[in-house]
Amino acid sequence: MIGAGRVAVLTGAGISTASGIPDFRGPQGVWTKNPAAQALFDIDEYVASRQVRVEAWKHRLSAPAWTAEPNAGHLALVELERQGRLTGLVTQNVDGLHQKAGSSPELVHELHGTVWYVDCLDCGRRVPMADVLPRLESGEEDPACEVCGGVLKSATVSFGQSLDRAVLDRAVAATEAADVFVAIGTSLQVYPAAGLCDIALSLGKPLIIVNAEPTPYDEQATTILSTPIETTLPALFDL
Ligand code: ZN
Repeated sequence: MIGAGRVAVLTGAGISTASGIPDFRGPQGVWTKNPAAQALFDIDEYVASRQVRVEAWKHRLSAPAWTAEPNAGHLALVELERQGRLTGLVTQNVDGLHQKAGSSPELVHELHGTVWYVDCLDCGRRVPMADVLPRLESGEEDPACEVCGGVLKSATVSFGQSLDRAVLDRAVAATEAADVFVAIGTSLQVYPAAGLCDIALSLGKPLIIVNAEPTPYDEQATTILSTPIETTLPALFDL
């Protein structure tokens, strides 16, 4: 459908809902149903309150990401890369499903970080989540850094935290290198992720949106597809 051009892709929560990972802002979203849950994703509240951290770790211990499997939407993007047509896969998701599906880690730009690692907010040490989950299972409610005793948090970008500048630079470069920009399963309400659409548009590139709900960029899009992502992507990319 979009021909042989090179594609930059931005994905959001919508591509992972078919893998059993709930989104945040959709009709059935985590924050739509429980706005108070947003406190768990606020860096100031997280640092200030042991209770917030205990609650956040409870959620992490049972996070669907540990057992979720990629779906046909993720696999379509692997095939796009295999055909040499993908300049970059920028994602707002932290679930790691693109890499689990087989996308090359060097092409996946995780703007909002990953739940598969844990950072110490004090000394900056990073360890795999798999090293920390057993501590929770053995009864620790708010595990501390084993080196400096500091506060640990999943390596995701919370409200109030900055994005990794290098990751954002790579996302912009992938957008600039593409002939077409495709936003998949994202409400395009969070910046700077959504701003990649502005970069693509300012360079005169077609913008294609695949999302169940309307987005603020619909009027500027060349094509809008609101059909299910898993069945839409193979046809969109002529796979
Ligand atoms: Zn530390």
